[in-house]
Amino acid sequence: MKEARDRELGMDRRITRRDFLNGVAVSLGGLAASAYWTGCTGSQPDLASAATDAQKNPPATAGLRGDAAGSFEPAHELRDGTFWKNAGGAASTDSTYDLIVVGAGISGLAAAHFFRKQAGPNARILILDNHDDFGGHAQRKELQVGKRTLLSYGAQSIESPSLYSPESKSLLADLGVDVQKFYRYYDQKLYSSLKLGSGIFFDRETFGEDRLVAGFGDIPHHEFFAKAPLSDKARRDIVRLYTEKVDYLPGLTRERKQAVLEKTSYADFLTKIAKCAPEVVPVFQTRSHDLFCVGIDAVSAAALYEEGDDYGYGYPGLDAMLGSGSGSRGNHKPDPYIFHFPDGNASVARLLVRSFIPDAVPGHTMEDVVTAQADYSRLDHPDSAVRIRLNSTVVGVHHDGDPASAREVEVIYTRNRQLFRVRSRLCVLACYNSMVPYLCPEMSGKQKEALAYGVRGPLIYSHVAIRNWTSFHKLGVFQIAAPGSYHVYAALDFPVSIGDYQGSSHPEEPMVLFMVRTPCQPGLSQREQHRIGRVELYDVTFETMERNIRDQLARMLGSGGFDPAQDIEGITIGRWAHGYAYSPNPLFDPDFADDELPNVVGRKPFGRIAIANSDAGAIAYMDTAINEAYRAVQELSHYRDS
Ligand SMILES: Cc1cc2nc3c(=O)[nH]c(=O)nc-3n(C[C@H](O)[C@H](O)[C@H](O)COP(=O)(O)OP(=O)(O)OC[C@H]3O[C@@H](n4cnc5c(N)ncnc54)[C@H](O)[C@@H]3O)c2cc1C
Repeated sequence: MKEARDRELGMDRRITRRDFLNGVAVSLGGLAASAYWTGCTGSQPDLASAATDAQKNPPATAGLRGDAAGSFEPAHELRDGTFWKNAGGAASTDSTYDLIVVGAGISGLAAAHFFRKQAGPNARILILDNHDDFGGHAQRKELQVGKRTLLSYGAQSIESPSLYSPESKSLLADLGVDVQKFYRYYDQKLYSSLKLGSGIFFDRETFGEDRLVAGFGDIPHHEFFAKAPLSDKARRDIVRLYTEKVDYLPGLTRERKQAVLEKTSYADFLTKIAKCAPEVVPVFQTRSHDLFCVGIDAVSAAALYEEGDDYGYGYPGLDAMLGSGSGSRGNHKPDPYIFHFPDGNASVARLLVRSFIPDAVPGHTMEDVVTAQADYSRLDHPDSAVRIRLNSTVVGVHHDGDPASAREVEVIYTRNRQLFRVRSRLCVLACYNSMVPYLCPEMSGKQKEALAYGVRGPLIYSHVAIRNWTSFHKLGVFQIAAPGSYHVYAALDFPVSIGDYQGSSHPEEPMVLFMVRTPCQPGLSQREQHRIGRVELYDVTFETMERNIRDQLARMLGSGGFDPAQDIEGITIGRWAHGYAYSPNPLFDPDFADDELPNVVGRKPFGRIAIANSDAGAIAYMDTAINEAYRAVQELSHYRDS
């Protein structure tokens, strides 16, 4: 049975990425269970050197991307206390730098940018990252369909740039990014001109039968939900939520309502305050997955109201409580959700790298960076003032003496299973906050506890290259919320064309689909759900992911003629075990005073070491990563001449 279904789904078809991926998935399981250092006996696959030697162009490399095998093993051994037992002596390398940055995500690259602005272009900077590519979450992916290269992304878009701080705006301006140009580059009318809108896929496991209903937001809600496999009571409840605009907490001031909704999950809001049937909850349960990495059981109604929903399905029932706003893309935000490079915020990372090492990412404009072929051999070149060293996990950062009077910082990192030692006058840690206590065990217990408090949200961004999107066209949808499915959201790519890159604009052309999965366990606190979800991410094999993707697309789009065995040309999985920075959640976390917030206590400078990264701002957006980099560099500025 299973084999027949697998053949139907096309599991036996050769597609871009799977053949090598399965090999990696097998190795991953082996590595997760074994020691990294014992892996160098020769019995384990040499993934780290495979990564350095074979990956001339990491974005196009076959393999499970994001936190891929080879990137995390030393860090996990450090966490488990086994790393130093197996480590040999460290070799010294390079001369002394002015600044070492740990983490080549947007924050680490931005720290190098701000430091150079202060110290000048000749400042010697070394940037270390454990991945095989720079950008951190802002990771570029390239998929091939025939001769056409399709781009996809990790971090998606420049969100609400008009709210960016002066420092973040100036960084974008320094790089030549003019966000106004996206009004031309992003075709906001493409899908509506083809009469494609939003759908909801009701799956048989959750709702009793598989049914795709199209027209959400285009046809009246009562017509839309009349087609949904729900009871009459649930349909009525959902329709009234969207349409009646009732204040469900009459008699309370706005401030009091805000306070109540902060302590009420949206799931409880639906059933206890808006008095909906419990059957309504599964329709909304996973709507918050993409932005919060947990379902509506673990997100306060007030937070959902504040954050809104970039994809336009909304959180109905809150408007009349707190003011108009929820329910359509960008209502809560001043800008439309259009500031998207085809490779997402990877273009910002590539522009930063270009500004440090022009040969590494040739070209001059925000347009030509999209298709520029990066030369990874230039990233870590002795002639360059800025060097970016990939596949290098930092395992120790120490002052040479008392942090109050030390003149230098020593950084130890591992690469290809060897240890290296390098020195610098200053250091910015732009890696995860939770990693820092392992790197700097000399920090105070209070600071280490604060750094370890936030648990980054795990999530998967899957991208699927398809031959054409005629099935979407026939079904009248460009995006589908799938509240009970393996991936809870699927959409055609953003319609953006920049420079030489042409987005897909006709249903007969190849396309990249974007799909989101957040592993979590409803009923637990957000931090617990993230911890459990992370385990799922490390255990899942590519084969499982592929089968689920094929099965889900077949079930959602089959009536439009989609055939997974024929139509899927490639799959890439962006696995982010350490995804979004953690923001305190009013449902589970104490009401911290401003100066006692874990991110505020944790990010305090420690001698010549400052802490950047979006964790330090406790908000998972690019501008936070940039702002925190700016602050960290400022904190070190008084050391500049000493
Ligand atoms: C899937 C996804 C989609 C997102 N979409 C958006 C979006 O659309 N818009 C938006 O504004 N934000 C988005 N974000 C949020 C994103 O986190 C921030 O925008 C920003 O990219 C974070 O940058 P960072 O440098 O703070 O962290 P990271 O990107 O995590 O970079 C930190 C880097 O440090 C490395 N590192 C950690 N420990 C070590 C060590 N010991 N040694 C060496 N290196 C180390 C990490 O592996 C990583 O590469 C998204 C995040 C994810 C996961």
